[in-house]
Amino acid sequence: MTEDHVIVGLEVHCQLDTKSKLFCGCSTDYRSDGPNTHVCPVCLGLPGAMPVLNKRSIEYAMRVAKALNCSVLHESEFSRKNYFYPDLDKAYQITQYDKPLAEGGYLEIDGDEGGEKRIRLTRIHVEEDPGRLVHRGNTERGKYSLVDYNRAGIPLIEIVSEPDMRSPKEARKFLNKLRATLEYLSVFDSEKEGSLRVDANISIRGSERVEVKNISSYKGVEKALTFEITRQKNLLRRGQKVERETRHFLETSGITQSSRSKEQEHDYRYFPEPDLRPLHVQSWVDGIVLPELPDARRERFIVQYGCSLNHARTLTGDLRLANFYEAVGAPDPANLATLADTWISDTLIGELNYRDMSIDAVDPAGFTELLELVKGNKCTDKGGIEILRVLLDTKKQGRPYETPSAIMDRLNLRKVSVTITKEMAYGVPAKSGVEATLTIQSNPILTAITEVLTGQPGAVDDFMKGKKGAFNFLVGHIMKKTRGCADPSEVNQLLTEALKKRGV
Ligand SMILES: [Zn+2]
Repeated sequence: MTEDHVIVGLEVHCQLDTKSKLFCGCSTDYRSDGPNTHVCPVCLGLPGAMPVLNKRSIEYAMRVAKALNCSVLHESEFSRKNYFYPDLDKAYQITQYDKPLAEGGYLEIDGDEGGEKRIRLTRIHVEEDPGRLVHRGNTERGKYSLVDYNRAGIPLIEIVSEPDMRSPKEARKFLNKLRATLEYLSVFDSEKEGSLRVDANISIRGSERVEVKNISSYKGVEKALTFEITRQKNLLRRGQKVERETRHFLETSGITQSSRSKEQEHDYRYFPEPDLRPLHVQSWVDGIVLPELPDARRERFIVQYGCSLNHARTLTGDLRLANFYEAVGAPDPANLATLADTWISDTLIGELNYRDMSIDAVDPAGFTELLELVKGNKCTDKGGIEILRVLLDTKKQGRPYETPSAIMDRLNLRKVSVTITKEMAYGVPAKSGVEATLTIQSNPILTAITEVLTGQPGAVDDFMKGKKGAFNFLVGHIMKKTRGCADPSEVNQLLTEALKKRGV
């Protein structure tokens, strides 16, 4: 069965990064504060408290609608979705039902089959976040649960896609592109814990659809989908049926689990929210000026700095990374733009991921200085990577900042090179024998070559007998002795010379 048979649609809930909640003045900056400290009669749902719509949250939602090519409806309205659950103190959630803010639209991703792929959107609507339950004990034998209403009333947008994705990888790309777009629009902060939650609909063509609820991380989405596709394929292979059901993703074990079926059968008894008027905001959308979005910035990076398509895609796929690149490369594009492009895309991102650090931890000025050392031939690429690792470790461990040059000198990573001629180095009388000897003794590459040739007589013999692999073995030892400070091509050349002398 090919991946083409897999059908995935996503419902993505994103917290809008406003200062206050959707229907009251409570601050949304709750994460570092104690439970139930950002609450008032409105978001606690006390009788008689009236909601007042936060204008900024509607403006943010319309920015998203415009950027995602949706049509804002002439009239949209809020509805009550009635259900009882402890995280929902009012026993209803204010959301949008049959008249959402916007419909249609699309987002382009780099598809599995190469080239741009358009993922169509069904709708975007605005709603309030419920509170949060904190379970003590485990899921099977929970001791008790605590409820925190700080999150209740935080503005959310729900972006619903059409079932246009064909693999977990495409779903991840869709989410990454969506996240980047929302961040470029300055309406969303992906670094905030729980700011994005996803429900995924997955089916194998011709079978029933399964909904996996409440996946709360980007990595979780790909894992949950991969698990679910395997589960469904295995059922079909055994001749069984896939049941239409709702399942939950267990983040820690990476599996999905069936939810009790009663929960799905709810009748939410939607009706228009009587305390809020319908929205007529269509004319407002024309006045919204969008900033440069990821695709436009990617094209600009290719034209302005000569980035490759892949690097430009990587760099602009994250707002912070794109800003960092421009902070390093833009002041003098002729000097550093190309080097910064490859160093950030091929080295820095990997080193950051390895340490679970974000780009915010890197000082652009320090990174620029490091690239200047490499560009100016003060250290080799390998030495530069060593310096970068020390910079990142220092930051991670909270130790005082040290400049790249200081690290280079402290660790003795300054590039060494042989400036004397090979004849001088290998015994052919120079103008002054004393001078040649002194230089030889103080030059780390030549010292290393001499030491390795003396210390590895077996490998030298092998080389003399024609074993080519022995040469690389010797180079490896010399590089190790010079701790990556030597230029490999120079080592190759000098070693060849030295071996020739021995062979004579
Ligand atoms: Zn409140």
